[in-house]
Amino acid sequence: MSDLQGKTALITGSTSGIGKAVAEALAQQGVNIILNGRRPAAEVEAQRVELETTYGIKAVYYPADMAKPGDIAKMFKAAAKTVGKPDILVNNAGAQYVSPIDQFPPEEWKRIIDVHLVASFLSMREAIPHMKEQGWGRIINVASAHAVTASPFKSAYVAAKHGLLGLTKSAALEVAEQGVTCNAICPGYVWTPLVEGQIAKQAETREIKPEQVINEVFMRVHPTRKFTTVEQIGETAVFLCSSAAQNITGQNINMDGGWTAGQVPLKQAGPAPK
Ligand code: NAD
Repeated sequence: MSDLQGKTALITGSTSGIGKAVAEALAQQGVNIILNGRRPAAEVEAQRVELETTYGIKAVYYPADMAKPGDIAKMFKAAAKTVGKPDILVNNAGAQYVSPIDQFPPEEWKRIIDVHLVASFLSMREAIPHMKEQGWGRIINVASAHAVTASPFKSAYVAAKHGLLGLTKSAALEVAEQGVTCNAICPGYVWTPLVEGQIAKQAETREIKPEQVINEVFMRVHPTRKFTTVEQIGETAVFLCSSAAQNITGQNINMDGGWTAGQVPLKQAGPAPK
Protein backbone atom coordinates (compact mmCIF):
# COMPACT_ATOMS: atom_id res chain seq x y z
CA MET A 1 0.00 0.00 0.00
CA SER A 2 1.27 3.49 -0.87
CA ASP A 3 2.39 5.84 1.95
CA LEU A 4 0.09 8.41 0.38
CA GLN A 5 -3.09 6.33 0.71
CA GLY A 6 -5.91 8.38 2.27
CA LYS A 7 -4.22 11.75 1.89
CA THR A 8 -5.94 14.59 0.04
CA ALA A 9 -4.50 16.64 -2.81
CA LEU A 10 -5.69 19.85 -4.43
CA ILE A 11 -4.40 20.25 -7.96
CA THR A 12 -5.27 23.58 -9.54
CA GLY A 13 -5.94 23.53 -13.28
CA SER A 14 -6.49 19.77 -13.30
CA THR A 15 -9.15 19.44 -16.00
CA SER A 16 -6.50 19.33 -18.72
CA GLY A 17 -2.86 18.66 -19.59
CA ILE A 18 -0.28 18.46 -16.79
CA GLY A 19 -2.70 19.00 -13.90
CA LYS A 20 -4.99 16.21 -15.14
CA ALA A 21 -2.04 13.79 -15.33
CA VAL A 22 -0.78 14.79 -11.86
CA ALA A 23 -4.29 14.22 -10.46
CA GLU A 24 -4.39 10.76 -12.03
CA ALA A 25 -0.88 9.83 -10.81
CA LEU A 26 -1.77 10.83 -7.24
CA ALA A 27 -5.17 9.09 -7.40
CA GLN A 28 -3.32 5.93 -8.42
CA GLN A 29 -1.51 6.17 -5.05
CA GLY A 30 -4.86 6.25 -3.21
CA VAL A 31 -4.92 10.03 -2.74
CA ASN A 32 -8.33 11.76 -2.64
CA ILE A 33 -8.45 14.44 -5.30
CA ILE A 34 -9.74 18.00 -5.43
CA LEU A 35 -9.97 18.92 -9.11
CA ASN A 36 -10.08 22.55 -10.23
CA GLY A 37 -10.42 24.35 -13.54
CA ARG A 38 -12.52 26.75 -15.53
CA ARG A 39 -14.88 24.27 -17.17
CA PRO A 40 -18.50 23.80 -16.01
CA ALA A 41 -18.93 20.89 -13.56
CA ALA A 42 -21.00 18.87 -16.06
CA GLU A 43 -18.03 18.75 -18.46
CA VAL A 44 -15.67 17.47 -15.78
CA GLU A 45 -18.09 14.90 -14.33
CA ALA A 46 -16.79 12.01 -16.47
CA GLN A 47 -13.17 12.69 -15.39
CA ARG A 48 -14.22 12.96 -11.72
CA VAL A 49 -16.24 9.73 -11.78
CA GLU A 50 -13.49 7.88 -13.64
CA LEU A 51 -10.96 8.78 -10.93
CA GLU A 52 -13.32 7.50 -8.26
CA THR A 53 -14.21 4.26 -10.00
CA THR A 54 -10.73 3.42 -11.30
CA TYR A 55 -8.78 4.17 -8.12
CA GLY A 56 -11.40 3.79 -5.37
CA ILE A 57 -10.78 7.30 -4.03
CA LYS A 58 -13.00 10.32 -3.46
CA ALA A 59 -12.80 13.07 -6.08
CA VAL A 60 -14.52 16.46 -6.03
CA TYR A 61 -14.44 19.35 -8.49
CA TYR A 62 -14.50 23.11 -7.86
CA PRO A 63 -14.61 25.44 -10.88
CA ALA A 64 -12.88 28.28 -8.99
CA ASP A 65 -11.26 31.00 -11.08
CA MET A 66 -7.73 31.06 -9.70
CA ALA A 67 -7.41 34.70 -10.75
CA LYS A 68 -10.11 35.57 -8.19
CA PRO A 69 -9.07 35.55 -4.50
CA GLY A 70 -12.70 35.10 -3.37
CA ASP A 71 -13.08 31.95 -5.49
CA ILE A 72 -9.89 30.47 -4.01
CA ALA A 73 -11.02 31.03 -0.42
CA LYS A 74 -14.45 29.51 -1.19
CA MET A 75 -12.87 26.43 -2.79
CA PHE A 76 -10.69 25.72 0.25
CA LYS A 77 -13.67 26.14 2.58
CA ALA A 78 -15.88 23.84 0.50
CA ALA A 79 -13.16 21.19 0.10
CA ALA A 80 -12.55 21.06 3.85
CA LYS A 81 -16.20 20.01 4.28
CA THR A 82 -16.14 17.30 1.60
CA VAL A 83 -12.74 15.57 1.28
CA GLY A 84 -10.85 17.50 3.95
CA LYS A 85 -8.09 20.10 3.93
CA PRO A 86 -5.39 19.33 1.37
CA ASP A 87 -2.23 17.57 2.59
CA ILE A 88 -0.76 18.04 -0.90
CA LEU A 89 -1.11 21.26 -2.89
CA VAL A 90 -0.13 21.38 -6.55
CA ASN A 91 -0.20 24.93 -7.95
CA ASN A 92 -0.55 24.25 -11.65
CA ALA A 93 -3.32 26.38 -13.22
CA GLY A 94 -1.91 28.50 -15.96
CA ALA A 95 -2.32 30.32 -19.22
CA GLN A 96 -0.08 32.11 -21.71
CA TYR A 97 -0.14 35.47 -23.49
CA VAL A 98 2.44 36.30 -26.15
CA SER A 99 3.14 39.93 -27.09
CA PRO A 100 5.98 42.46 -27.24
CA ILE A 101 6.11 44.50 -24.01
CA ASP A 102 5.20 47.78 -25.70
CA GLN A 103 1.97 46.21 -27.00
CA PHE A 104 1.22 43.98 -24.00
CA PRO A 105 -2.31 44.78 -22.71
CA PRO A 106 -1.93 45.63 -19.00
CA GLU A 107 -5.06 43.58 -18.16
CA GLU A 108 -3.50 40.48 -19.77
CA TRP A 109 -0.25 41.10 -17.86
CA LYS A 110 -2.23 41.22 -14.61
CA ARG A 111 -4.23 38.09 -15.49
CA ILE A 112 -1.05 36.06 -16.12
CA ILE A 113 0.60 37.24 -12.88
CA ASP A 114 -2.63 36.60 -10.93
CA VAL A 115 -3.23 33.06 -12.16
CA HIS A 116 0.38 31.85 -11.84
CA LEU A 117 1.85 33.80 -8.95
CA VAL A 118 -0.81 35.46 -6.80
CA ALA A 119 -3.03 32.34 -6.89
CA SER A 120 -0.10 30.17 -5.76
CA PHE A 121 0.61 32.52 -2.85
CA LEU A 122 -3.08 32.62 -1.82
CA SER A 123 -3.42 28.82 -2.06
CA MET A 124 -0.26 28.27 -0.01
CA ARG A 125 -1.57 30.75 2.55
CA GLU A 126 -4.75 28.65 2.85
CA ALA A 127 -3.00 25.26 2.85
CA ILE A 128 0.06 25.77 5.08
CA PRO A 129 -1.65 26.05 8.52
CA HIS A 130 -3.13 22.51 8.24
CA MET A 131 0.16 21.10 6.93
CA LYS A 132 2.14 22.68 9.77
CA GLU A 133 -0.37 21.52 12.35
CA GLN A 134 -0.15 17.87 11.28
CA GLY A 135 3.62 18.01 10.65
CA TRP A 136 3.37 16.79 7.05
CA GLY A 137 2.67 18.50 3.79
CA ARG A 138 3.78 18.72 0.20
CA ILE A 139 3.60 21.82 -1.98
CA ILE A 140 4.50 21.41 -5.63
CA ASN A 141 4.55 24.47 -7.85
CA VAL A 142 4.40 23.72 -11.55
CA ALA A 143 6.73 26.46 -12.77
CA SER A 144 8.60 26.22 -16.08
CA ALA A 145 12.02 26.41 -17.71
CA HIS A 146 10.85 30.03 -17.95
CA ALA A 147 11.39 30.23 -14.18
CA VAL A 148 15.13 30.16 -14.78
CA THR A 149 15.57 31.44 -18.32
CA ALA A 150 13.66 33.84 -20.59
CA SER A 151 12.18 33.96 -24.07
CA PRO A 152 11.11 37.13 -25.84
CA PHE A 153 7.42 38.13 -25.99
CA LYS A 154 6.44 36.12 -22.91
CA SER A 155 7.34 38.80 -20.37
CA ALA A 156 4.36 38.31 -18.03
CA TYR A 157 4.74 34.53 -18.03
CA VAL A 158 8.51 34.67 -17.50
CA ALA A 159 8.12 37.22 -14.70
CA ALA A 160 5.37 35.14 -13.04
CA LYS A 161 7.37 31.90 -13.26
CA HIS A 162 10.59 33.52 -11.96
CA GLY A 163 8.47 34.88 -9.10
CA LEU A 164 6.95 31.46 -8.47
CA LEU A 165 10.41 29.94 -8.08
CA GLY A 166 11.33 32.66 -5.57
CA LEU A 167 8.10 31.97 -3.69
CA THR A 168 8.93 28.24 -3.70
CA LYS A 169 12.32 28.81 -2.06
CA SER A 170 10.99 31.26 0.50
CA ALA A 171 8.09 28.97 1.50
CA ALA A 172 10.45 25.97 1.73
CA LEU A 173 12.60 27.79 4.29
CA GLU A 174 9.59 28.95 6.33
CA VAL A 175 8.13 25.45 6.78
CA ALA A 176 11.35 23.42 6.73
CA GLU A 177 11.10 22.30 10.36
CA GLN A 178 7.44 21.31 10.18
CA GLY A 179 7.65 18.30 7.84
CA VAL A 180 6.41 20.35 4.90
CA THR A 181 8.36 20.51 1.64
CA CYS A 182 7.91 22.96 -1.19
CA ASN A 183 9.46 22.36 -4.60
CA ALA A 184 8.99 23.51 -8.17
CA ILE A 185 8.76 21.30 -11.23
CA CYS A 186 10.17 23.23 -14.19
CA PRO A 187 9.14 21.62 -17.47
CA GLY A 188 10.39 22.65 -20.87
CA TYR A 189 7.86 22.05 -23.65
CA VAL A 190 5.19 19.51 -22.74
CA TRP A 191 2.68 18.28 -25.30
CA THR A 192 -0.58 19.67 -23.86
CA PRO A 193 -3.52 21.77 -25.14
CA LEU A 194 -1.63 24.89 -23.93
CA VAL A 195 1.32 24.15 -26.24
CA GLU A 196 -0.85 22.79 -29.06
CA GLY A 197 -2.77 26.07 -28.97
CA GLN A 198 0.46 28.04 -29.44
CA ILE A 199 1.48 26.19 -32.60
CA ALA A 200 -1.12 27.71 -34.91
CA LYS A 201 -0.59 31.22 -33.51
CA GLN A 202 3.21 31.00 -33.72
CA ALA A 203 3.01 29.59 -37.27
CA GLU A 204 0.81 32.49 -38.30
CA THR A 205 2.80 35.24 -36.61
CA ARG A 206 6.21 33.84 -37.66
CA GLU A 207 4.88 33.00 -41.15
CA ILE A 208 6.19 29.43 -40.98
CA LYS A 209 4.61 25.96 -41.11
CA PRO A 210 3.28 24.24 -37.95
CA GLU A 211 6.00 21.53 -38.26
CA GLN A 212 8.63 24.28 -38.28
CA VAL A 213 7.19 25.69 -35.05
CA ILE A 214 7.61 22.25 -33.48
CA ASN A 215 11.10 21.51 -34.84
CA GLU A 216 12.68 24.97 -35.16
CA VAL A 217 11.07 26.86 -32.29
CA PHE A 218 10.06 24.35 -29.60
CA MET A 219 12.42 21.39 -30.04
CA ARG A 220 15.32 23.66 -31.01
CA VAL A 221 15.72 24.43 -27.30
CA HIS A 222 15.38 20.80 -26.14
CA PRO A 223 18.75 19.08 -26.71
CA THR A 224 16.92 15.73 -26.40
CA ARG A 225 14.59 16.81 -29.28
CA LYS A 226 11.70 15.31 -27.31
CA PHE A 227 8.71 16.86 -25.57
CA THR A 228 8.39 16.15 -21.83
CA THR A 229 5.25 14.06 -21.25
CA VAL A 230 2.45 14.76 -18.79
CA GLU A 231 2.88 11.23 -17.39
CA GLN A 232 6.55 11.96 -16.55
CA ILE A 233 5.44 15.05 -14.63
CA GLY A 234 2.78 13.00 -12.79
CA GLU A 235 5.42 10.47 -11.73
CA THR A 236 7.76 13.25 -10.58
CA ALA A 237 4.97 14.77 -8.48
CA VAL A 238 4.39 11.37 -6.83
CA PHE A 239 8.13 11.10 -6.14
CA LEU A 240 8.16 14.56 -4.52
CA CYS A 241 5.32 13.41 -2.26
CA SER A 242 7.10 10.19 -1.29
CA SER A 243 9.18 9.57 1.83
CA ALA A 244 12.28 9.42 -0.40
CA ALA A 245 11.80 13.14 -1.05
CA GLN A 246 11.29 14.17 2.59
CA ASN A 247 14.57 16.11 2.62
CA ILE A 248 14.23 17.62 -0.85
CA THR A 249 12.88 21.14 -0.46
CA GLY A 250 13.24 24.56 -2.07
CA GLN A 251 14.42 22.96 -5.30
CA ASN A 252 13.56 23.31 -8.95
CA ILE A 253 13.29 19.96 -10.70
CA ASN A 254 14.10 20.80 -14.31
CA MET A 255 12.32 18.54 -16.82
CA ASP A 256 13.34 20.40 -19.95
CA GLY A 257 15.26 17.94 -22.12
CA GLY A 258 18.51 19.73 -21.16
CA TRP A 259 17.30 23.22 -22.22
CA THR A 260 18.62 25.08 -19.18
CA ALA A 261 21.84 23.03 -18.99
CA GLY A 262 23.43 25.05 -21.77
CA GLN A 263 23.28 28.08 -23.98
CA VAL A 264 20.64 28.02 -26.69
CA PRO A 265 20.94 30.52 -29.58
CA LEU A 266 18.18 33.12 -29.24
CA LYS A 267 17.36 33.49 -32.92
CA GLN A 268 14.23 31.52 -33.82
CA ALA A 269 12.65 30.65 -37.14
CA GLY A 270 10.68 33.34 -38.96
CA PRO A 271 9.93 36.92 -37.91
CA ALA A 272 9.20 37.60 -34.23
CA PRO A 273 5.58 37.16 -33.12
CA LYS A 274 3.62 40.39 -33.41
P1 NAD B 1 -3.53 23.31 -20.17
O1 NAD B 1 -4.03 24.47 -20.95
O2 NAD B 1 -3.61 21.96 -20.74
O3 NAD B 1 -4.23 23.30 -18.74
C1 NAD B 1 -4.34 24.46 -17.98
C2 NAD B 1 -5.29 24.21 -16.85
O4 NAD B 1 -5.35 25.42 -16.07
C3 NAD B 1 -6.72 23.89 -17.28
O5 NAD B 1 -7.28 22.94 -16.39
C4 NAD B 1 -7.43 25.23 -17.14
O6 NAD B 1 -8.82 25.10 -16.89
C5 NAD B 1 -6.71 25.76 -15.93
N1 NAD B 1 -6.83 27.21 -15.78
C6 NAD B 1 -6.40 28.20 -16.61
N2 NAD B 1 -6.73 29.39 -16.12
C7 NAD B 1 -7.38 29.15 -14.95
C8 NAD B 1 -7.98 29.97 -13.97
N3 NAD B 1 -7.98 31.31 -14.07
N4 NAD B 1 -8.56 29.38 -12.90
C9 NAD B 1 -8.59 28.03 -12.77
N5 NAD B 1 -8.03 27.21 -13.65
C10 NAD B 1 -7.45 27.76 -14.74
O7 NAD B 1 -2.03 23.70 -19.80
P2 NAD B 1 -0.76 22.84 -19.34
O8 NAD B 1 0.20 22.86 -20.46
O9 NAD B 1 -1.17 21.56 -18.73
O10 NAD B 1 -0.16 23.82 -18.23
C11 NAD B 1 -0.26 23.58 -16.84
C12 NAD B 1 0.86 24.33 -16.13
O11 NAD B 1 2.13 23.88 -16.63
C13 NAD B 1 0.82 25.84 -16.35
O12 NAD B 1 1.13 26.50 -15.15
C14 NAD B 1 1.92 26.08 -17.37
O13 NAD B 1 2.49 27.36 -17.27
C15 NAD B 1 2.92 24.99 -16.96
N6 NAD B 1 3.86 24.63 -18.01
C16 NAD B 1 3.41 24.07 -19.19
C17 NAD B 1 4.34 23.75 -20.16
C18 NAD B 1 3.94 23.14 -21.46
O14 NAD B 1 4.79 23.03 -22.35
N7 NAD B 1 2.69 22.69 -21.64
C19 NAD B 1 5.70 24.00 -19.95
C20 NAD B 1 6.11 24.57 -18.75
C21 NAD B 1 5.17 24.88 -17.78
